[in-house]
Amino acid sequence: MNSTSVSLQNTTEITKSIKVAVANGDGIGHEIMDATLRILNAAGAKIDPEFIDIGEKVYESGNTSGISEKAWDAIRRNKIILKSPITTPQGKGYKSLNVTLRKSLGLFANVRPVSALHPYVHTNFPDMDVVIIRENEEDLYAGIEHRQTQDVVQCLKLITRPGCERIIRYAFEYARAYNRKKVTCMVKDNIMKLTDGLFHEVFLEIGAEYKDIEQNVQIIDIGSARLAARPEEYDVIVTSNLYGDIISDIAAEIGGSVGMAGSCNIGKDVAMFEAIHGSAPDIAGKQMANPSGLLNAAILMLAHLGQNKTADKIKNAWLATLEEGIHTPDIYKDGMTKKKVTTSQFADEIITRL
Ligand code: NAD
Repeated sequence: MNSTSVSLQNTTEITKSIKVAVANGDGIGHEIMDATLRILNAAGAKIDPEFIDIGEKVYESGNTSGISEKAWDAIRRNKIILKSPITTPQGKGYKSLNVTLRKSLGLFANVRPVSALHPYVHTNFPDMDVVIIRENEEDLYAGIEHRQTQDVVQCLKLITRPGCERIIRYAFEYARAYNRKKVTCMVKDNIMKLTDGLFHEVFLEIGAEYKDIEQNVQIIDIGSARLAARPEEYDVIVTSNLYGDIISDIAAEIGGSVGMAGSCNIGKDVAMFEAIHGSAPDIAGKQMANPSGLLNAAILMLAHLGQNKTADKIKNAWLATLEEGIHTPDIYKDGMTKKKVTTSQFADEIITRL
């Protein structure tokens, strides 16, 4: 895979087991990973999990990076990661492990597809089908933050031309590969004229090479308002790190639940697959979590690994389960839900439909 190819789908079906670094994460992480792996196993996915410890347990051991050398070694060897969300510790001295992973592994593109599943999951936006492509290494997430005085702190927004070129080209290539018709760029260059201005400028330059694809630019505030009100107007959205993080949660939530969307983080050598949501400490240990976000990430992973038939089989069983009104509490709706189930029961229902 090179940095501009859109390697989310291989065409040859793989039959040999592929080693994958698997992180159970924190909060609901273990529950949704258990459900997901049981479904993958029952579907005959050819993956061989190598479990790695990251997150709270590692932070608590005094390692402020949240990841051990052993886990790094497994990631570098396997080059594929299936990861549950982790809890980012509050306070000074701790680094965000998610940011560290994305930056250290060069995972420059975060691809977050969100579509409505009307009429099987309640949403006010039945025609929503959008893919948010978020730059994943730069912007305010670059980790350049410091204290100037006791009362003044600063976080620098880092935007580079190569970073813009790579993500914007990736978005146009993705649109072509998946027969998407339009790419919308979201920026705030009326205020941040240099940083967001560069993103906008590069979008126009690269866009000129993709005349077959409709394209437009929107200011992020009105763009996100319209996404929340008329999501069906959007197809592919490309944007910088922070805006992409925010608008993908909005899109997933108005599509039914933030618990439904999966994502992949694509780099030159390594790819990491995860749900878009966090570790949901409010429902952890209660078997209330929807495992669909992580399952959808695992489906993207199987397609990436060339196991398309297995990916399709799981997706169809998942859709059939939702169609029959079998819902976790987050998507429960009177008149639509036939059976409210726990995380683990939801996985069982999918397995019976494989
Ligand atoms: P969150 O996404 O964990 O939860 C927000 C709300 O959505 C909560 O009410 C939660 O119950 C609900 N929710 C989330 N996932 C769900 C699911 N699968 N099924 C049903 N309901 C679900 O966001 P937060 O509470 O702001 O963050 C909690 C922790 O997660 C923080 O420490 C944050 O830093 C971390 N986080 C991690 C990642 C990651 O590892 N990729 C991403 C985002 C946040």
